[in-house]
Amino acid sequence: MVQRKKIIIIGGGFGGIFTARKLANHNIDVLLIDKQNHHLFQPLLYQVAAGILSPENVAIPLRLVFADNKNVKVRMEEVLSVDKTTQKVITNENEYFYDFLVIATGSTYNFFGHNEWAKHVFTLKTLAGALKLKNHIQTQFERALVIKDSAEKEKLLTFAIVGAGPTGVEMAGIISEIAKKFTQEESTIKFQDIKVNLIETAERPLAAFSTYLSDYSVQAMHKLGIKVKLNTTVEEIRHNYIKTSEGEIHSNTIVWAAGVLGVGAASLLNILKPARGNKVTVTEYLNLCDDDKVFVIGDTAEFIQNDRPLPGLGSVAKQQGIYLGRALRKIVRGEDRREIKPFKYEDYGIMAIIGKRAAVAELPLVHLQGVPAWILWGLVHLLLLIGFRNRAIVLFDWVWTYLAGSYSSRVINQVNYEA
Ligand SMILES: Cc1cc2nc3c(=O)[nH]c(=O)nc-3n(C[C@H](O)[C@H](O)[C@H](O)COP(=O)(O)OP(=O)(O)OC[C@H]3O[C@@H](n4cnc5c(N)ncnc54)[C@H](O)[C@@H]3O)c2cc1C
Repeated sequence: MVQRKKIIIIGGGFGGIFTARKLANHNIDVLLIDKQNHHLFQPLLYQVAAGILSPENVAIPLRLVFADNKNVKVRMEEVLSVDKTTQKVITNENEYFYDFLVIATGSTYNFFGHNEWAKHVFTLKTLAGALKLKNHIQTQFERALVIKDSAEKEKLLTFAIVGAGPTGVEMAGIISEIAKKFTQEESTIKFQDIKVNLIETAERPLAAFSTYLSDYSVQAMHKLGIKVKLNTTVEEIRHNYIKTSEGEIHSNTIVWAAGVLGVGAASLLNILKPARGNKVTVTEYLNLCDDDKVFVIGDTAEFIQNDRPLPGLGSVAKQQGIYLGRALRKIVRGEDRREIKPFKYEDYGIMAIIGKRAAVAELPLVHLQGVPAWILWGLVHLLLLIGFRNRAIVLFDWVWTYLAGSYSSRVINQVNYEA
């Protein structure tokens, strides 16, 4: 009897989950390994931090995703290394052998050589990170109401977000909206007392968008009371303190949303000289240049198209996962690899939300701003969420928040989250 081929996928993010979906219910043994037990929809993490959505609604257990697919096994383990010679994956608990390996381990934040800053800032990458930030933001407002020391109160009501890409802009926008809501509930704190600073080295926010859309975002942020500090470089971060090229900010809440680094693949494969951003260079078929059994996709891969690396986007990871799942089916069936077409990313556009009724969308044929972009952003994110239940609950929570104006998940719990 011919042995079924074994495919191991490391990482159950966008890349890993879509590869596994395309391999589900085929004559292949698939092992999906992730150090978390869930797939996380990172684009909506900031709404968990804002208390709009509950963590369960932006994540789904991997076991549930593949409950009906007997050939896909899920294991919660951390992969420590890969031995390409013996085709072995070594985790904190086990060793597994593969015929083909897919590495989709994602990315982490880039502190540009200042890793010592990490302990003083909040990041949005995991559920724990988002919950820690939510507890913290709610605590700042509650404490600001009761504290007597005015310098302390100012630090409680000052927020600094570093990086004006989509995540930074979204975070600044939502903090400003939470602040407005809070000052409507509690008139002893004035909205003008709350300072939301968005710090960006470049001369404009949302640099991946056309200039006039990023100009619109600046206007929309000014309307929200956000201080947009452009051409401003962070020089030092300490506990509740940030020094920039344009001055100092004393704030209890510093959110880091600048730059990403590929995580996992380069170190798992022991690649000493990774590509820019700690990524692993792959061929047009997504495999390693020196190994056609090992594939790297998503944020941790460097794929060059039209002389430029593809951006770290969910849509890139998803398309690569779908392509690779289909290609692996053909490879396992023994089809001639030369017949398989190379991967090509289809760019359907980029979007960012700034606040209520304010967003930008740059699509191939049309550029949108304001309410149309805001509605489109909501629809696209609902469709991309995994799981019908999550889509239904998120839609309900959004409508509820919009109509009732209340953020329902504002409970401060006592759990000490390690982000
Ligand atoms: C706050 C935020 C907002 C974003 N907004 C958008 C957006 O609006 N639109 C968009 O297109 N993109 C957005 N992105 C980017 C998008 O989420 C990523 O591009 C996408 O998740 C990358 O998918 P991936 O499969 O490469 O990695 P990920 O989705 O990050 O998944 C990697 C997985 O690998 C696991 N893993 C890592 N190392 C190991 C190991 N050693 N062993 C076992 N498991 C491991 C992790 O636990 C994780 O589950 C956003 C990202 C963030 C952080």
